[in-house]
Amino acid sequence: MRPSGAGILARHESPSTESRRSRPPKAHYPHLLWRETVRCSKCEAPAVTLIRYSGQHLCRDDFLVFVERRVKHEVRSQVNLEGGERVAVGLSGGKDSSVATVLLHDILSIRRDVELVAITVNEGIASYRPGSLPLAEALCKDLGIEHRIVRLEDTAGWAMDDVVGADPTAIPCSYCGVFRRQALNVAAKETDADYLATGLNLDDTAQSILMNVARGDIDKLARLGPHERVQPGLVPRLQPLRMIPEKEAYLYAMLRGIRFHDATCPHAERAQRGRFREIVNHLEEESPGTRHAIVRGYDQLRPLFAEHFPPAPLQECVVCGEPTSRITCKACELQGRLSTVEGLADRARSR
Ligand code: SF4
Ligand code: ZN
Repeated sequence: MRPSGAGILARHESPSTESRRSRPPKAHYPHLLWRETVRCSKCEAPAVTLIRYSGQHLCRDDFLVFVERRVKHEVRSQVNLEGGERVAVGLSGGKDSSVATVLLHDILSIRRDVELVAITVNEGIASYRPGSLPLAEALCKDLGIEHRIVRLEDTAGWAMDDVVGADPTAIPCSYCGVFRRQALNVAAKETDADYLATGLNLDDTAQSILMNVARGDIDKLARLGPHERVQPGLVPRLQPLRMIPEKEAYLYAMLRGIRFHDATCPHAERAQRGRFREIVNHLEEESPGTRHAIVRGYDQLRPLFAEHFPPAPLQECVVCGEPTSRITCKACELQGRLSTVEGLADRARSR
């Protein structure tokens, strides 16, 4: 379906359009407010935030423009859309993916020849996912974009609640991450998408880089998106929020009135990523700009990675047909493991 955008401008208004025109002249602000309020570094409006890594105070409108400019720049640097493409966006209903969806809609809706479609993966976590699905649906309806929901139960044969029951000692994310990537890739191909955008933000990206460095996993480090090469069977990833800090994505959603699911998965605290989140937060707190430095440093190394660690050629998994560098893909390997542990548990119960 062609994104219409009708009906969303009032709620998801961009400062570059209506709100800038309707903002009252600076002279109309009460005099006292000006004395007591920290002002925007770019204009005289009251500031809503301090960008610590640049030292700028920004008002609502200048903050929105600040985010939008970087996202536009990032999308342009990651992909050259020639027309006729379909871009899928993984939309969980959380802040990052909702902001990525709205911004991609803003950027792409001026292109009549590029379509945006959203894909939501329902992992089957009863205490978490049902809260976000109606919000993801409502956002797509507002934006007038096609929305597809896929269930891990259908694509991987397992809902995450059952995975946790079958293999309680494993870290749930080690299953969920693999199954979810597979589900998104399958759904993106089914919707004929040429690209798959995700809501990964600057914090996520810096954490992933450090995590793979700490593990010495150079192959994985070299393969962190966005994907520059098209590999057969793998829909190339886009990361529009790659240079947007998590807190800025949150504030952007709040200031534009984007409704999102503000909850944390019950399994998140068991994820190994949590330690790296703390480390990155600590470094950023002590030296603002560290996250940008980590990602920019990584980007300077990318050409070397591409030369010395080219991605292994992909082939079809002998079980499911999804792309893999091995004979059987990781998702099928994990499904095999689950069948084994479930079988062992059944046998133990029947003794
Ligand atoms: Fe899945 Fe882990 Fe994310 Fe929860 S925190 S949705 S289990 S990857
Ligand atoms: Zn497989």
